Amino acid sequence: MTIRAVEAVTLALPFEVGGPKPRFAGKPREFVHMILVRVETADGLVGWGEAFSHVAWEATAAAVTHNIAPVAIGRDAADIDGTIRTLRQIFHLFGRTGAIVFALSGLEIALWDLAGKRAGKPVSTLLGGARRDRLPAYASLMRYGDPELVARNSAKAVRRGFSMVKLHEIHEAEVRAAREAMGPGVPLTVDTNCPWTVDEAIAAARRFAPYDLLWLEEPVWPPEDYAGLARVRQEGGLRIATGENACNSLEFETMLRACAADVVQPSVTKIGGIAEWWRAAKRAEAQGVMVAAHSPYFGPGLLASMHLAAAMEGEVPIEIHWCELGASPLGGAVLPAGGVLALPTGPGLGCDPDPAVLRDFAVM
Ligand SMILES: [Mg+2]
Repeated sequence: MTIRAVEAVTLALPFEVGGPKPRFAGKPREFVHMILVRVETADGLVGWGEAFSHVAWEATAAAVTHNIAPVAIGRDAADIDGTIRTLRQIFHLFGRTGAIVFALSGLEIALWDLAGKRAGKPVSTLLGGARRDRLPAYASLMRYGDPELVARNSAKAVRRGFSMVKLHEIHEAEVRAAREAMGPGVPLTVDTNCPWTVDEAIAAARRFAPYDLLWLEEPVWPPEDYAGLARVRQEGGLRIATGENACNSLEFETMLRACAADVVQPSVTKIGGIAEWWRAAKRAEAQGVMVAAHSPYFGPGLLASMHLAAAMEGEVPIEIHWCELGASPLGGAVLPAGGVLALPTGPGLGCDPDPAVLRDFAVM
C-alpha cells in the first residue's frame, strides 16, 4: 500500500527529575520534546514512529518534513528496507548520523508499526516471536552533580522496584553516594557521556571500581575511539558499555572487532530503526556480547525497544528515563511496575499515542 503522508508531530511535555532542571547546551531544559513520526497509507491506515531529537528537536522535525517525507511519499509502505536504503544513499553526504538519520529512524519504526497492523501481528512476532512478555527495566537517572540528590533518587528507584540503577555522573562522590544509598547487591552502572581521554578514563574506572559497577558507559571522547575503549576495558578493571552513538550496524562490527565493549547499546530512534537495531544486536549476540537497549524514550521508540528486546534470545535490559512527565504519550499503557515492563500484545507496536496528549501538548 502506498505511503500517502509522513508528518512530524512534536510534543513538548513538562517534566520533573527529582532535582533542579538539567542544563544542556547552555540552556536549562524546560520541556521534554519528542518527535513522533506519523505515517499514513493510501487506505487510511496510520503507523507511528519516534525520531531522536532531545534538545535539537527542531532539526529532527525539519528533517522529517523537508527531507524524509518527500522521498517516502508515494513508495510502497511494505518495502521498509528499500525505502530506508534509498534514504540513506540519497542523504549520506549529510553524515551517517544526525538529524536525517534520526528522522529516517522514526519513519522506519512507523513502517514496522504499519506492517504489524496490516498483518494483525505484534512487531515482536514479525521479528521471529517474543521469547518473553515481561521485560526487565532499569532506572536511568539524570545527572545531578550532587551526592545527596543522587542518593535520594537512587534509593527511591530501588524502592519503586527497579532492579538496576544507572547514574549519569562523573565524580566519585556521587557514585559512592548511590552505592551507599542502594546497599550492596543492587546492580549499579555509570554513564559518563564521553568526557575523558583514554588515560583519564582508565584512572576514573579504577576510582569507581570499589563501588561494584555492572558497567561504565561511554567514558572516552570521541565515542568512536574503539581502540581507546578497548584499552580502558583492559586496564581500567570495569566492564565497558557503548553504542548509543553508533548509527549503523557496520559500526557495531568495527566496535566488536576492536574488542571495545562488554555491553552494546543500539538506540532504535537513532540507528535507523528496528531492522538496523536488530542487525547490530545480532552481531553482538553472535560474539557473546551483552545487548542493552538505549531507550530513554516515552513513545513509539520505547515500544520498539520492547518488541526488539522481547524477540532477542538473551535478556535485554530496557532503559527507563527517571523522569515524571506532565502527561504520558502512551496514555499510561506502558509504565514499569516493580521494575518490569509488560509487552503490549496488540498488532504493530501495540499502542498508539494518546489523542488527548497529542491535542494538549503538540507544538504548532
Ligand atoms: Mg548513555
